[in-house]
Amino acid sequence: MCICILKKFDIAILGGGILGTTISYWISNLYDSSVCVIDKEFDVAQHTSGRNTGVIHTPFYLNPEKKKIFAKSAHSSHELWKTLAKNTMSPWNEIGTIEVALNETQHKTLEKYQKWGVENGVLEENLLLLNSNEIKQREKNVECFSGLLCKSDVSTDYSKLTQEIKNISVQNATEFIFQKNVKSFSNTDDIVINFTDNSSIRCNYLINCAGGNSLDVAKQFDLLESYSDLHFRGEYWIADNTHADIVNTNIYSVARHPEFPFLDPHWIKRANGTTEIGPNAVPVPTPETYDGFVTDIPSTISKLGEILTGGAKKLLLNPDFLSLISHEFRSSISKDTMVQRVMNFIPSLKPNYFKTKGTAGIRTPVISPDGNFISDVMEREGQNSFHIVNYNSPGATGAPAYSALIIQKLQDRGILKTPNSQKNSLWNFNSIIEQI
Ligand SMILES: Cc1cc2nc3c(=O)[nH]c(=O)nc-3n(C[C@H](O)[C@H](O)[C@H](O)COP(=O)(O)OP(=O)(O)OC[C@H]3O[C@@H](n4cnc5c(N)ncnc54)[C@H](O)[C@@H]3O)c2cc1C
Repeated sequence: MCICILKKFDIAILGGGILGTTISYWISNLYDSSVCVIDKEFDVAQHTSGRNTGVIHTPFYLNPEKKKIFAKSAHSSHELWKTLAKNTMSPWNEIGTIEVALNETQHKTLEKYQKWGVENGVLEENLLLLNSNEIKQREKNVECFSGLLCKSDVSTDYSKLTQEIKNISVQNATEFIFQKNVKSFSNTDDIVINFTDNSSIRCNYLINCAGGNSLDVAKQFDLLESYSDLHFRGEYWIADNTHADIVNTNIYSVARHPEFPFLDPHWIKRANGTTEIGPNAVPVPTPETYDGFVTDIPSTISKLGEILTGGAKKLLLNPDFLSLISHEFRSSISKDTMVQRVMNFIPSLKPNYFKTKGTAGIRTPVISPDGNFISDVMEREGQNSFHIVNYNSPGATGAPAYSALIIQKLQDRGILKTPNSQKNSLWNFNSIIEQI
């Protein structure tokens, strides 16, 4: 019999997306605890964190009461990302966004957004409510009833930003353990993390930041058992060079179904200079089904089983949801349908302006036992674990400040001991905690 001594860490973070990586930054920056980040891929940000729209969102569209943490985190993180981007020569394109209303009812929503923005800390001069003519003077190809111009929205590359945070975290002694797929946990005094290659490591405390798999991981710790999730692929199409600049600002439209976590596709000016439309929201069986609809039969059957027994079943009886989903499917199967959705506010577009698909990303909203989408992030604690689930948009924007909040919570509970003085001054922990 082989008695192996397993490598042991004080804290293991499962998931090297933007959330797990920024949490590792703070721990390694402030504490003496040994910390590792585990990911099944060869590097950080290979899933949602590297496959999103790339916008640093200004939180004008987030309800300051219902989405307070997301709104505050997004607001406080803006300057943190800016400092990192300047220090590392990462993309930082202050492109701005116009949120368009197509009728008077949607205009009322924009009035509400303008108030919410100010309540969330956005400077009034950065949020201008403009009428149709004023929008036309800025963007002659945009047709709308009115628009809310948000000057402070930025296009960036979250994959590069996550890489840069990883580099600093490594300098501060975080160990990144790549190409290790977590299969199971043995939870006694400490936690043994077992990988699919039959190797294992131990830790005193686990932080679950496993993105689209985080609910499944939480369930392995007997948490959130009555909740379910669905995976929605967001697809993009890239505009050809001749038409990429017919509109020079990001254009979003007011959500037609605020009870569901989907928007119509936007017009996006990417940090790399390309222009794209997207994302739609097509249901897929796994958090990594980037092409086609069924990639892995066992996962698909298991997901179907979960849908037929969990809260998602109730959602599937909701006619509004079904009609929305069938529309989303059509825009996946047909490029023309996707382009037509953007033509609602840029009517001069034509499907043949879009010849190449962009990089798809997958969001995984969580559904309550009574069949409703959960709008905010969910945090659950196990005996020696902390789980972050439903960390959806604008999660990339808010990651540095939200991660600092998690660190503060773990410190308050005595899991992290008294912090050292900060090792470097890229981001100041105390001033972020004061802000949020
Ligand atoms: C289409 C789309 C567009 C978006 N646009 C924006 C935007 O413009 N601005 C914005 O602020 N937010 C945006 N978001 C949201 C944002 O991208 C996410 O909130 C954020 O990236 C989530 O980060 P994460 O670290 O939680 O998850 P992820 O980036 O998915 O990281 C989770 C990691 O866990 C690893 N993992 C999972 N299971 C295991 C396992 N068993 N073993 C080992 N490793 C495992 C995965 O490999 C992955 O690397 C968008 C999201 C989508 C889907």
